[in-house]
Amino acid sequence: MAIQPIRLFGDPVLRTPATPVADFDKELRKLVKDLTDTMMDAPGAGLAAPQIGVGLRVFTYYVDDQVGHLINPDLDLSDECDEEGEEGCLSFPGLSFPTPRAVRAVAKGFNMHGEPVTLEGTDLMARCFQHETDHLDGILFIDRMDPKQRKLAMKAVREAEWSGLAAPVIRMSPHATGGKAL
Ligand SMILES: [Zn+2]
Repeated sequence: MAIQPIRLFGDPVLRTPATPVADFDKELRKLVKDLTDTMMDAPGAGLAAPQIGVGLRVFTYYVDDQVGHLINPDLDLSDECDEEGEEGCLSFPGLSFPTPRAVRAVAKGFNMHGEPVTLEGTDLMARCFQHETDHLDGILFIDRMDPKQRKLAMKAVREAEWSGLAAPVIRMSPHATGGKAL
C-alpha cells in the first residue's frame, strides 16, 4: 500500500494540464498502484494523477464494483446530458453539487502495459470518466456548473474547514489558560 496525500482545491497542480505518458515502465505501474490504493482508502469513485501531485495523464476508477485505470484517455461523449446528477471530488472533501455531464462516454486509451483499451460507461461511470479526464486538463467540476450553481459551490468551498480560501477565523480555545498569558 502506498497511500498518497490528496491535493485540495487551491493547489496549483490541480490547474496544471498533465503530460501524456510516454514510458509504460515500472514507475508508471507504481503510479497506478498508488492511485488505486489512495482512491480505495479515501474512499472515492475515481482519482486522477494530478490529485496526488503527479502531472501525467493517468486516472483510476472504482464504479459499480469495477476497479480500473486508463492512461492518455480520449473521450467520445453522447449528446444526451444529465443536468442534475450530484457530483463530488476528493479534492473538495465533503462537498457535492449538481453538475451537468454527458450520460454516456466512450473512453479510449491504454492500460499500464501500453495495450490499447476502450471503456464504455453510462451514468456514474460516464460521469467518472469525464470528471477524471477533466482533471488531466486542469479542469475541475466547478468549471462545469452553471454560473448560479458555481456561485453556491464557491460559497460552500470558502466555508469548508479544509479551505485555505477564507479569511482566517480566530477561534477561541476551549482550554482555560488559568489566567496565564501564553
Ligand atoms: Zn475530482
